[in-house]
Amino acid sequence: MSELLNLFRLQQLDTQIERANSRLEEIDRALNDDQRLLHARKKYENAKEEAKQMRIELNQIEDKVEAQRIKRKKSQAALFSGKIKNPKELQDLQMETEAIKRYISQLEDEQLEAMIAYEKAENVEKQAEKSLKQAKGTAAEDNAALLGEQSQLKKELERMTREKDAVLQSIPSQALKLYDQLRKTKRGTAVVAVKDEACGICGQSLTPAEKQSVRASNQLVHCSSCGRILFAG
Ligand SMILES: [Zn+2]
Repeated sequence: MSELLNLFRLQQLDTQIERANSRLEEIDRALNDDQRLLHARKKYENAKEEAKQMRIELNQIEDKVEAQRIKRKKSQAALFSGKIKNPKELQDLQMETEAIKRYISQLEDEQLEAMIAYEKAENVEKQAEKSLKQAKGTAAEDNAALLGEQSQLKKELERMTREKDAVLQSIPSQALKLYDQLRKTKRGTAVVAVKDEACGICGQSLTPAEKQSVRASNQLVHCSSCGRILFAG
């Protein structure tokens, strides 16, 4: 009885179409949301910002040092110009020059620390940039494989849908109604192949009479336990 054969083919196609659609959804999600890439990009942007801040701090200290050096030069020039005769004034100037010298030395220590911090931050930035590049490469490779699978699945879906349309044409409406009802209530599977003389889904053994009916397939035989239509396979 070709009705049963057609119903079984319809069941196979519906199952494969569902599987293809859910895999396509999975691929869509993977393509739209690559966590590794997002993570690597965020890390790089943070490192870049950190290095930028360190550079700014270093520049500020360098400017301060430079300003103090100019100040010291002026004080020294005044000190040795011979124009200042007043001993009190000379002594004040002397002390001011010494103070500037100490301040410069302190600033130079800070400058060195800032330089080290900046170089460290710059290295972290370079590493993060490298990691981002690698993540981009990996994502492109993965995505290429996913895109290939996606186009393959879409082609298969088209073919299966065409075949399903043809199969639907050859099934009487009464049988189709039964099939749809069973699919709704039996988690998508209305027709099941007999396996080892039992229902392929619930495992219920067939009686000798059922076995014969299924093989003869001149009427639809339902599994006595789950109610699905049995197919001899
Ligand atoms: Zn069953």
